[in-house]
Amino acid sequence: MAFVARQQLVSSWNRYRSIPIVYRIGVAFVLGSLLGLAVGQPAARLRPLGDLFVRLLSMLIVPIVVFTLLMGARRLSPANLGKIGGQVVGLYAVTSALAVGIGLIVANLINPGEALQLTDGDAQSATPPSLTEVVLGIVPENPIAAMANGDILPTIFFVIVFGIALALVEATTDNSDVERGVGLFYDLAESGAEAMFKVVWGVMEYGVIGVFALMAAVFGEAGVDAILPFALLIATLLVAVVAHIVLVHLLGIVGGLVGGSPRGFLNGSKEALITALSIRSSSGTLPVTMSNADKNLHIDEEVYSFSLPLGATINMDGTALYQGVAAVFAANLVGVQLSIAEQVIVVLVAVLASIGTAGVPGAGLIMLTLVLRQLGLPLEVVGFVAGVDPILDRLRTMTNISGDLAVTSYVAKLNDGIDLGAGSWVGEATDSFDD
Ligand code: ASP
Repeated sequence: MAFVARQQLVSSWNRYRSIPIVYRIGVAFVLGSLLGLAVGQPAARLRPLGDLFVRLLSMLIVPIVVFTLLMGARRLSPANLGKIGGQVVGLYAVTSALAVGIGLIVANLINPGEALQLTDGDAQSATPPSLTEVVLGIVPENPIAAMANGDILPTIFFVIVFGIALALVEATTDNSDVERGVGLFYDLAESGAEAMFKVVWGVMEYGVIGVFALMAAVFGEAGVDAILPFALLIATLLVAVVAHIVLVHLLGIVGGLVGGSPRGFLNGSKEALITALSIRSSSGTLPVTMSNADKNLHIDEEVYSFSLPLGATINMDGTALYQGVAAVFAANLVGVQLSIAEQVIVVLVAVLASIGTAGVPGAGLIMLTLVLRQLGLPLEVVGFVAGVDPILDRLRTMTNISGDLAVTSYVAKLNDGIDLGAGSWVGEATDSFDD
């Protein structure tokens, strides 16, 4: 009897685990919100369970930054970068920075989180830093102290510099001991990152309870008023990604710089964009993105075989843009106005952090912990937005892919590696999976 009950328990647990975590978190978000609405103020007693989730996320920030950026810096090593590499990386950085800017502008116009006030406003930054302080603050006086204090921007800066220096040493040394040592550093970073991602998944498993508790507490305290900000957050992101794709990708890069037809570009990229929208992973979409670049957009393999895999990991216009939107959302929730200098911080953190953030579902949430930490805004906002992330992530990932393909088209144009007189550019019916 006990055996049967145990079997049943195990199989229900396995069935539960087989549902993707984001959906379980989405359901927890809805159920927690409903519980909060139903029972009101007493639901706020669940808050410590939510706070635990926030602490777990917070614990991961510094190790993830260090490990993943060391790996990212290896990919970006000067030894691997030729002329095309420089163009690709430069353009990726510029488009990501523009994306954050657009996200910030749209979010500042809409102020999606204004209708809801978090009660524990522990985030009131006393005096916002000046622009000079922000820029100087990127360089740590003491990297160990920066890591120990969880100062994200100087930590990112130091790790990137260190990672590139390691790559240079590896490329130039003829001392085999040194070479082995560098390899060891990278291997450690690689396994450290793997281990941290395992922990992230564990934390996300707990996130089902954490998000349930956070939402119960929020809705318990704020009632129905809390629905509007989440709807506005989704709407704000939608407006901002459409603005970015149309203005920067289609009109600016494809129409302006490449001299191609925006409609042809969209038509040629549609399978990749739709795949990104469905699977929420730039890396997972990569084979389709490459196929679209080759068969529909007629880009040379020499260009896209380098720029697209790199773009899937380091170019994230949608994810970067979301940081702008989410930072304003978080500031709204605690009733503070982000200063210009703080908005510049968002741009810097988002652009730099995207080097280390993988193109996998939910990666934008991890990046958000960095941005919030750097701004001194409450990390529990990550728990709030995690519930609607399955929707937000789709928009981000689609924008990431559109950015990869737009920049790749332009770099191809600069290097005579694109045929604008063929394929979807001239309206030929395209289906990359035909042949
Ligand atoms: N899912 C996104 C991607 O793979 C990253 C993110 O979470 O924003 O591109």
